[in-house]
Amino acid sequence: MLEIDNIVCRYGKVEAIKGVSLKVRKGELVTVIGANGAGKSSTLKAISGLLPPASGTIRFEGVDITRATPQRILSMGIAHCPEGRRVFPQMTIQENLEMGAYRRKDKAGITADMARMFDNFPKLAERRYQMAGTLSGGEQQMLAIGRALMSRPRLVMFDEPSLGLAPNIVEKTFEIIQKVRADGATVLMVEQNAYAALDMCDRAYLYESGSLALEGTGKDMIHDPHVRKAYLGG
Ligand code: ATP
Repeated sequence: MLEIDNIVCRYGKVEAIKGVSLKVRKGELVTVIGANGAGKSSTLKAISGLLPPASGTIRFEGVDITRATPQRILSMGIAHCPEGRRVFPQMTIQENLEMGAYRRKDKAGITADMARMFDNFPKLAERRYQMAGTLSGGEQQMLAIGRALMSRPRLVMFDEPSLGLAPNIVEKTFEIIQKVRADGATVLMVEQNAYAALDMCDRAYLYESGSLALEGTGKDMIHDPHVRKAYLGG
């Protein structure tokens, strides 16, 4: 479904990604793990058109999207649930969800999806006319996931969904992500919580300093001596 071939991405002189190739097949849950600054977020930004690669190619369902605009990439079926959630704090919860659907024209479908989001996230339903900035971190994460799903994506990318959340909320967030996949979407997730990410994924990639250090199934990676020592506490 997604094929990244040897991309290099830079911020000015900083080379954040130094020639990375990876694949996500339809229906998979793939995770990218690695230390701070390894280039994980930059990879998701490259896919969603926010950080166009200096070289290399990105193909989605066979179409070259390497230099496509973020709007077009979203319209093609890729949603990005960003690090730190980035909800619009001065907009209501309902308006945040509407923003997720801003490229869609099917009003009836949007209304139906909105109702489904409120069924799935009752806490958001209760507070739909309140400003999103008043939500707790966990609730904002639910809203950010709901907003991403409002575009009806075929591929959903989650950047550090567990960051800054209490353990019970982290567990709930991962359950929701697994449900997103069970409901038919393909998932690419960047996570620092390496154990949880490897445990729930089909396949994983390990980044070190802007390059790929290792790839394999989640189970293989959990048992890999280097991964255990450096990322799973031994
Ligand atoms: P983290 O979990 O800390 O976000 P990451 O693996 O997602 O880490 P990236 O955010 O992709 O890493 O960063 C990769 C490299 O690019 C780092 O060296 C980082 O300092 C640099 N970088 C990221 N964003 C920018 C930016 N806007 N301007 C300059 N350098 C940046």
